[in-house]
Amino acid sequence: MTQTQKPPIQLKCPSCQRQVIWNDEFPYRPFCSERCKLIDFSDWATEKNRIPGSEESSNISDQWESSTDD
Ligand SMILES: [Zn+2]
Repeated sequence: MTQTQKPPIQLKCPSCQRQVIWNDEFPYRPFCSERCKLIDFSDWATEKNRIPGSEESSNISDQWESSTDD
């Protein structure tokens, strides 16, 4: 009888490029650890927050105008 054992899927952690094997040893896969998972998520969230940043600058100019009007 031949055992057909699939080779483990190996990938790199998107955060630190460490080797991650797709099995129960890495519950946070494709990240190597919970830490890397959080790092990646915070990166993503920061990038997302950059878009509505233009609203803030329009608020600042609004304050400027009202102060000169006084
Ligand atoms: Zn990592």
